[in-house]
Order: sequence, then C-alpha cells, then structure tokens
Amino acid sequence: MSTDRAIPLGLVIDDDATMRLMIRRGLERDGFRVEEAADGDTGFVAFTTHSPDVVLLDAIMPGADGFECCRQIRGHPGGERCPLLMITGLDDDRSVDRAFEAGASDYVTKPIHWAVLRQRVRRLLGAARAERQVHHQARHDALTGLPNRLFIDERFRQMLAEARRYGHRLALVFMDLDRFKLVNDTLGHATGDRLLQDFATRLVATARETDSVARLGGDEFLILANRIACREDAAPIAQRVLQILCQPPVIDGHVLNVTPSVGIAVYPEDGETLEELIQRADMAMYGAKNQGGNRFEFYRPEIGLRVSRRWTLEQGLRRAIKRDELVLHYQPIVALSGKGLLGIEALVRWQAPEEGLVSPGEFIPLAEETGLIVSLGERVLEMACAQMVRWRDLGLPPFPVSVNLARGQLTPDLPAFLAGLIDRHGLPGARLTLELTESALMEPTAGVCQMLNDIKAFGASLAIDDFGTGYSSLSYLAYLPVNTLKIDLSFVQRSVVDTKAATLTAAIVALGHKLGYTVVGEGVETEKQAAFLRAQGCDAAQGYYFCRPLAAAGFEAWIESSGVLLDPGPERPAGARRMRRPRPPTYVTTG
Ligand code: C2E
Ligand code: MG
Ligand code: MG
Repeated sequence: MSTDRAIPLGLVIDDDATMRLMIRRGLERDGFRVEEAADGDTGFVAFTTHSPDVVLLDAIMPGADGFECCRQIRGHPGGERCPLLMITGLDDDRSVDRAFEAGASDYVTKPIHWAVLRQRVRRLLGAARAERQVHHQARHDALTGLPNRLFIDERFRQMLAEARRYGHRLALVFMDLDRFKLVNDTLGHATGDRLLQDFATRLVATARETDSVARLGGDEFLILANRIACREDAAPIAQRVLQILCQPPVIDGHVLNVTPSVGIAVYPEDGETLEELIQRADMAMYGAKNQGGNRFEFYRPEIGLRVSRRWTLEQGLRRAIKRDELVLHYQPIVALSGKGLLGIEALVRWQAPEEGLVSPGEFIPLAEETGLIVSLGERVLEMACAQMVRWRDLGLPPFPVSVNLARGQLTPDLPAFLAGLIDRHGLPGARLTLELTESALMEPTAGVCQMLNDIKAFGASLAIDDFGTGYSSLSYLAYLPVNTLKIDLSFVQRSVVDTKAATLTAAIVALGHKLGYTVVGEGVETEKQAAFLRAQGCDAAQGYYFCRPLAAAGFEAWIESSGVLLDPGPERPAGARRMRRPRPPTYVTTG
C-alpha cells in the first residue's frame, strides 16, 4: 500500500469520462493524486500496479462491473483492507446490499453530492489508517519493530504455497544470543533491550529482501528464507548472521562481546509446518550452543536426541534444587610454608536419583543459561554456612570456607542475601570467601564493584579463581577489592614440564604478592608441582596430592587423621602493597 507516501492516491474506476474528470477534480482539490481506469478489468490492473489508498468505483460498467471488480480487489493481497467506495446511480436496497456483499466499504449515490463524497472518503481513510495501525501492531514486536510470530504465520503460508508450486525449499534460520541473560542480569534490562534493538537492526540489514526477519520473544529471532534450491543454500544465511556481531555493539558505554548461536531447519525434509520447522531449528540451535555457541548447525535427528537429554537435565536440575539433591564436597587449601590449612573450598555436586553424582562442570553452565544459577547458588551458600555451624559445634577449627559464585549470581540482591545469611547462622563474615572466575569479573560495571565492596564490608574475602584462563586485562586487579589469586591448574601442572609455563606461574606469584594478594596454586597432583610452587613462594595449594574433594564426613575424618590446624596466613614480603582493608583475623590457636 502507498500508506507511507505523503500524498494519498485515489483510484477512480468509471466508464463515464465526465464523471471520472469531476471526481478527479474533487479529489485533487482535497490534496489527492489520482489514477483513472475506464472499466473493471483495467481498474483491477491499475489497483495492482498503483496500490492506491482509496478506490472509488462505479457499480455499472461494461465488462467486469463494479461489484465484480470490488470482489477481485478484495481477494488480492493488499486489497483486503483498502477502502472501496462504490458509486451507484441505483438507489435501491438490493444494489446497496450487493455492494457490501462484494466487499465495498461504503457507497454514495449519483448524482454525487460532493460534500458527502469528501466526508466519506476522509472517514474511510481515517478508519483504514487506524485499522492498518492495529493490524501492524498485532503483527509486530513493540521493542524492535520486527514482525512477530503472527506475521510469520501468514508469511509462511504464502511462501509455502509458492514453494510447493515451484518445487523450492524454505529455510528457517533460528537464533538467539549466547549468554544474553548475563547481559540482562549484570547490566540491567534496559541495556539488554537496547542490545536486542541493535541486533534486530543488524539482522534486517543482512537479510535478503525476499526473506522475512522476525523476533519471537526474548532474544529469539528467526529468518524465513524462500527460493532455496538445496539445503546447503541456507548455510550462507547463517554465516552472515554469525558475522553481524563481529563488530561488537557498544551499548550504554559497554562493549558487548555477544555472539549468536544459529540453527537451521529446511522445508520439506525437516518439517512441513511452521511449528515443526521452528522446533527443529531451535533444537539445531541448542546443538550449536552445546558446542560452545557462536556457530550454526543444521537440524539432524541425532541433535533432537541430544537436546532432549539437555531438556531432561534442566527439568532434573529444577527438581534437584527443590528436593535437596545437591551436596557439597570439601577440599582443603593447604599452606605451603606452614603446616595448616588456609581454608576449605566447597564444591557442589548433584546427587541425581538415576545418574548418581553429577559434576558441576555438567550442570553449572546449564544453570547459568537457564537462570537457575541464582537459586542453586543460594542453596549452596546456605548449605556451606549450615556446615560451618555444624563443624563449629563439633569443635573443628574455624576454617574459612570458599564458595564459588557464577557471574549470574552477581545480582543487586546478593549483598543483602549474604548479610542475612551470615547473620542467620551467627557466623563472622570473615568465615566466608567468595571465588569468582576472571571471566565473571570481565568488564565489571560500577554496580559490580560497589557490590563487591559491600560484600567485603561485612568481612568476607574475595578470590579470583582459575587465574590466567580469563580473557580480561589485568587492569581490573587494580580496583577490585580482591584478597586471593588462585592460579589455574593448567599453569600449575605445565610448570613442571614446560619452562615457559614455569616462568608464567612464577610471574603470577610475584605479581600477586606485589599487589598484596595471597596466592594459591590449584590442581596440584604431584610432589614436584607442590615443590615448584613452594620454591616460587606461593602461599598455598590445593589438589589431589593433598586431598581430593570429600563429602563432609570424609573431610572430618581427614582432619582428624591429619590433625591440621588453621594456618595463620602468609606473611607479606617487605614492600608489598598493603591491603586497602586489613584482612579479618583468621588466626586461631588451638591445643
Ligand atoms: P574450581 O572452583 O576451580 O574448583 C576446582 C576444581 O578442580 C574442582 O572440580 C576440583 O575437584 C578440581 N580439582 C581439585 N584438585 C584437583 C587436582 O589435583 N587435579 C585435577 N585435575 N582437578 C582438581 P569440580 O568440583 O568438578 O568443580 C569444577 C568447577 O565447577 C569449579 O572449579 C567451579 O568453577 C565450579 N563449581 C563448583 N562448585 C560450584 C558452585 O557451588 N557454584 C558455582 N557457581 N560453581 C561451582
Ligand atoms: Mg573455585
Ligand atoms: Mg579453579
């Protein structure tokens, strides 16, 4: 339709040239442009060519009359909602009925009363505009302006008819943004919304004119592509989608390194209905995500099987949190210079009814993606505190317990939750250390820094986990209130076989000490690795060489047999930077 044109277009269909001329003049006076046709057949052709905003048509004409022409226009795509004003000299009830039956919006009778005609045209245009707006709103997404599912339903029906007629394929390219939830959780929904708008604009720019781009909701988008000759023709579409975020969007001052995952299903082999195609493209997308995201996958039946396992896992995990199927194992963090423990790390496991003990590597990423991480993390913190209280009652030394936090847990509610937790269990804040990976601390916002300071304010410590594996610059170390660096096990283990890794590990220990941190080596499996760390002046270590992670009872037995105590903590070398906040006292003299 010509709705966007500033000047409305009227199409006048009448076999009487004088009448056409009069109507033309009347419309032009009212600011219209005008096209004319002298009979129903050419009138219909003129309609399809010019897409007018309003049609005025005579009822009685040679050949296809006004009623017939009206019906044809109504049956034509785009003609359903065009205002059609029937002009008739026949003032009888039957003609009026016929005009409406044929789809006319209204009628005027000859001789034409110009003021009436003008009012009717104006009213019809106003009504058509309002109807178009409602129609548009119902079929478009308010946030991005992209078509929505309803629009795609209609478009799919048209494309399907064409594909069947010409033997083409259709491709449904389905996508979402990897770790989009993290953006929402950490930077807020307003930033998330702007990211979606930015992505939508890029997506439209990359699509062919004949493709339809839509947003289904959340961060789910699709491209419906027609005239696909063979399956492989869909791959370049997906490849273009992967490229559109190569230049990362900068939103509200944040460089957002987000990537899409894309799944493709093709009509007719993967499905014959839109429903089926979306479902399978969605499965293929999950297949892509399972391989790390930022890639595309075609639907294959095996993917269906894998995805359904993932789905089962997600449902199971939801249950696990509710039904207390999570358990904590504990691993000591052993002082390398002294004799005791610096603390204990709590590591979650899922005691699944059918599968047995599931390791966090399998379900933490899923919990992060699905947002379950917040309730899971709260459960873990509750369990760790409850265990500390039990150990206190048993008379064990007050070892600080380290709990791992995922980025998705850094919500504005976290400090208040932690303060309440500590308070409820009657524990000093200093008993709690929170471990965050480097990648979780990537580009910390002012809000995250404030939150970490709030957490530290009640005595808890912060450790950077898996140090060396993240992608971030070191600059964040200067302003984050961190106490401990934990060197990733890959550095520790390679240090004894690879001189470059050894140099790096030594440099990390020195750097950590210069900044006033306690440095812990992770994943120590051999005496040689422990000796290497000790030689570098590393403060503490953790690994199978000392003790595997053990369930609470096993850990108690280990403590009893080894007789270890709480280590006073490392002494800072001369010249090391003082901590901004003094370390809370952890030294306890027992026995
Ligand atoms: P992490 O925090 O770096 O924990 C250390 C991991 O190394 C643990 O794996 C531990 O069992 C393992 N490990 C300890 N000593 C050795 C060793 O000598 N050799 C080797 N090869 N591995 C060793 P686990 O328990 O499977 O946990 C894996 C990761 O899952 C953890 O890495 C942590 O990032 C995450 N995780 C564990 N529990 C939680 C939790 O409650 N919340 C969150 N958000 N993440 C958790
Ligand atoms: Mg850890
Ligand atoms: Mg680690």
